[in-house]
Amino acid sequence: MKLGDGHERALRPDSLVVALGRSQEPGAPLNVPLTPSSTYRFGGELGYGRDGNPGWAALEGALGALEGGDAVAFASGMAAVAAVLETLPAGALVACSRVAYHGVRVLMGERERGGRLRVLFVDATDADAVAVACDGAALLWLETPMNPLIELVDVAALSAVAHANGAAVLVDSTFATPLRQRPLEHGADLVLHSATKFIGGHADLLLGVVVTRDERRRDELVHRRAIDGATPGALEAFLALRGLRTLAVRLDRAEQTAGELARRLAAHPAVTRVRYPGLPDDPWHELARRQMSGFGSMLAFETVGDANAADRVCERVELITSATSLGGVETLLERRARYRGDADAGTPPTLIRLSVGIEHVDDLWRDLEQALASLDA
Ligand SMILES: *Cc1c(COP(=O)(O)O)cnc(C)c1O
Repeated sequence: MKLGDGHERALRPDSLVVALGRSQEPGAPLNVPLTPSSTYRFGGELGYGRDGNPGWAALEGALGALEGGDAVAFASGMAAVAAVLETLPAGALVACSRVAYHGVRVLMGERERGGRLRVLFVDATDADAVAVACDGAALLWLETPMNPLIELVDVAALSAVAHANGAAVLVDSTFATPLRQRPLEHGADLVLHSATKFIGGHADLLLGVVVTRDERRRDELVHRRAIDGATPGALEAFLALRGLRTLAVRLDRAEQTAGELARRLAAHPAVTRVRYPGLPDDPWHELARRQMSGFGSMLAFETVGDANAADRVCERVELITSATSLGGVETLLERRARYRGDADAGTPPTLIRLSVGIEHVDDLWRDLEQALASLDA
């Protein structure tokens, strides 16, 4: 069997992350080599470094196949976000989920204040509100599961609503990874990942990707990348593909641990609420079962006491690291409302977001328990 001529459709995603993005030529190195080159000899397929790189192509081939479309890689998740917004005509209306990645909300706000776009922030969990916001919109911007509240939106239902109003749909699927959710199959037109997170998986790179089935959109994004210059580094693309190789095992382990920690946290007297779609009584549990093939490894919990009390928990962890970001092998936590933008967006003051890594579940639990012991329950 040779990959690259359709046979990959018979393989499961866990095999695809290992097999895709490699040359099938006899004698070829197993890994597409790092190509640190800003220019290419005249007469070949590639001319200049902003046009392409063999390492980007390998990564894009793999991610495109996993999502079921064509992938375009960018220098970071935010570079991908900016490129998508830049493809919209001047004055276009964007309906944007009110709960979304902080940087996305900042960029939307700036594009609006600068007069480049019109932006309506909407409660994306309310389909009627989304329908109203999509009236005349060019794009509906969704994120699921959403940062930092770990809420989900129904991609199929909202895509139908948006399309009925003539709006295209983008889903930021970073929290789900290409292994737990395939938004294009649910009707989305564009899928975005911060590959900085789960795909890279080791907190050692920045990279973003957009996937679409629409050739015109793909070409526009490739053009934006070349002209705006938000190109991934050769090393970053190489590392992202290397990270992707282990995504399935990392995620399986982290997800199992996240489910266990969510159950234990829910029973802890100093914890007032746990947000994890894998918990049977989570409001998004049924939707997650329908839309995702697993519950992922992101959870959030709220504590007794005030923001200072929750800050003490973050200061006291020892194995777990108090840091922003997510999706790596190392477990990270942070109190999100310490960021003004998140506080203004209605994040509960004591909400602590936990990105579960691949350490042993009992070591993680012992660490959380000793940190939570600082709270009076
Ligand atoms: C991190 C993140 C981004 C931005 O990606 P960068 O790679 O940091 O630029 C966008 N969306 C979500 C959901 C993220 O977690």
